Amino acid sequence: MKRNRHTLSYLLTPDYLFDRYDQITPEFLKDLGIRGLLIDIDNTLAPYEQSEPDERIHAWFDSLRVHGIRAALISNNHPPRVERFNATLGLPAYPDSGKPGSRALLAAMKEMEVTPAETAGLGDQLLTDTLAAHRLDLISMIVPPIKDKTTLFFRFKRLLEKPFLRRYRRRKRKEDQGGSGK
Ligand SMILES: [Mg+2]
Repeated sequence: MKRNRHTLSYLLTPDYLFDRYDQITPEFLKDLGIRGLLIDIDNTLAPYEQSEPDERIHAWFDSLRVHGIRAALISNNHPPRVERFNATLGLPAYPDSGKPGSRALLAAMKEMEVTPAETAGLGDQLLTDTLAAHRLDLISMIVPPIKDKTTLFFRFKRLLEKPFLRRYRRRKRKEDQGGSGK
């Protein structure tokens, strides 16, 4: 599917929206040719206050591993948070990642030995996670934040995301109806 990669709407509109991270199955990823996943932690896998992964998270990463899908944690949170969360997962992990900057994503792809064409980013925020992924032409997968913050700043960010989520849903409807999806 060809799109103008320089438009704001390309940069901020996710390619896939899921209700939860573990709706993303290894089979689905394989069908897309994805071998590597760059995954946000906060509000994507767990709420801020959950310091360690639960069984569900472990089970999901196990299923990815079994199917040869590589994964890395890319978080804008600080090293202690990321290291504690990753202690039992043992994934390549990039705290203070500076998303939507590209640095950590590029380093993670190098570490995982995957190319942009076979990599997807997964997160909960269009302005950081989708933007970071699309700047590098990665597929962007989004889940709604597990527990949304209600500060004015976060509400403002959600407001900014709205037109791009609408755009995603419009495109998805067209695709479901067998349209070109553009
Ligand atoms: Mg997040």
